Amino acid sequence: MLKWAFVGASNIASEWMVGAVRAAGDEVVAVVSGSAARAAGFAQQHGIAHALDQLDGLRRLELDAVYVSNTNDRHEQAVLLAAELGCHVLCEKPLALDIGAARRMVDACRDAGVVMATNHHLRHNSAHRQMRGLLRTQGLGRLVAARVSHSVHLRAKLQGWRIDNAAAGGGVVLDIAVHNADSLAFLLGEYPVEVMAMSGSSGMGRGVEDQAMSLWQFPSGLCAFTHQGFNTPHASNRLEILGDQACLEARGVLNQTPGGELVWRRADGDLSLRLDHDNLYLRGLRELHKAIAGEDSDMASGEDGLRSLAVALAVRESARSGRRVKVDYA
Ligand code: NDP
Repeated sequence: MLKWAFVGASNIASEWMVGAVRAAGDEVVAVVSGSAARAAGFAQQHGIAHALDQLDGLRRLELDAVYVSNTNDRHEQAVLLAAELGCHVLCEKPLALDIGAARRMVDACRDAGVVMATNHHLRHNSAHRQMRGLLRTQGLGRLVAARVSHSVHLRAKLQGWRIDNAAAGGGVVLDIAVHNADSLAFLLGEYPVEVMAMSGSSGMGRGVEDQAMSLWQFPSGLCAFTHQGFNTPHASNRLEILGDQACLEARGVLNQTPGGELVWRRADGDLSLRLDHDNLYLRGLRELHKAIAGEDSDMASGEDGLRSLAVALAVRESARSGRRVKVDYA
């Protein structure tokens, strides 16, 4: 049983992570917010003993783990303190706004001997797990391409810093391209070397992009197309891996909730594969427990979070410059 502090009185913490931590058999003992009132409200709503408005307050508590879900610009400070306190870390994506910060976070956790994980939840859904299994047994023949349609309608309650605050880490590229990078890396076992992208605002983003399309070149030669957006109500999401013998098409699986459909299209016809409905965040926490116990784990590590951030930063730089950009994994 781990004793957790939550840094960030955030929506994701409230909607998903308090419940997931408790379902994993752990305890949430403290919440830290930049606002004393928000910390107190969050603690009262979720029955958490300690409500703090300063990170330093964590020094007085006995903790095993820290979950970081404040705005992206503030992740680093919390992760560095957690490492200093000898706590395992689960940090939200994107880890930071630049690679240097992500590297400092990963290195601090490594030097402190604690596990650092990134909350890339999509790899824990049933479709991702089954697709990876089929890819490992060469179920598609030679891989040719991947397509990720991941354009959503950002819920009204989330239309805050994400759509108007670049300094806090807003913009759809940092928000969603990181997930696409992690999903493809989980499935394919490789990260892109080079990207080309275009981005823009369709009216929701103010000072940050709310849509981006990009092409990614992988070391194996595979090419991927990814679309990430905030302002597309009613759009379905889709993840496809295309081989020269068959393809896999997952629809409606790029969500916080489980579900969706997975079809394996082959010469002898289409096969629909059954998906389980496990909670993605709870599965992630169980994988984190395995990592802490020194066992093989499918949890995204801190290094995985650094790599997905590197891809997103390259996408943003390519869209800005109008050029192909090599991904800098530092
Ligand atoms: P929120 O906007 O809900 O919260 C982010 C921060 O904003 C909070 O930590 C809080 O700061 C502040 N805040 C919250 N409510 C208010 C308010 N009413 N007034 C002023 N400030 C407020 O963010 P999300 O939950 O959407 O995202 C948090 C992190 O989690 C991000 O890094 C995001 O990318 C990630 N995320 C990951 C998901 C996943 O599936 N892995 C899904 C959604 C988000 P304070 O800490 O000071 O209280």
